[in-house]
Amino acid sequence: MVKGQLSKKIYDASWAELIRELEYKSKWRNKKFYQIDTYYPSSQICSRCGYQNKKVKDLRIRKWECPNCLNLNERDLSASIK
Ligand SMILES: [Zn+2]
Repeated sequence: MVKGQLSKKIYDASWAELIRELEYKSKWRNKKFYQIDTYYPSSQICSRCGYQNKKVKDLRIRKWECPNCLNLNERDLSASIK
């Protein structure tokens, strides 16, 4: 898809329509789609063992080591892994 068309679509579509489209495209390409709560602490949860580390709420902490399994979690990458 051309970048400009995508931008126009995002501007034109309501948020609900965008979510519906993402869900549809995910199914069409046999990908998993997850819609999570706004306040779900995904960047505090270890992507390996699922331990929630409440000591890393500060967003300036970009990498943290899980005290449970010693996995090194990079905040954004870890949050995207389910
Ligand atoms: Zn862990």
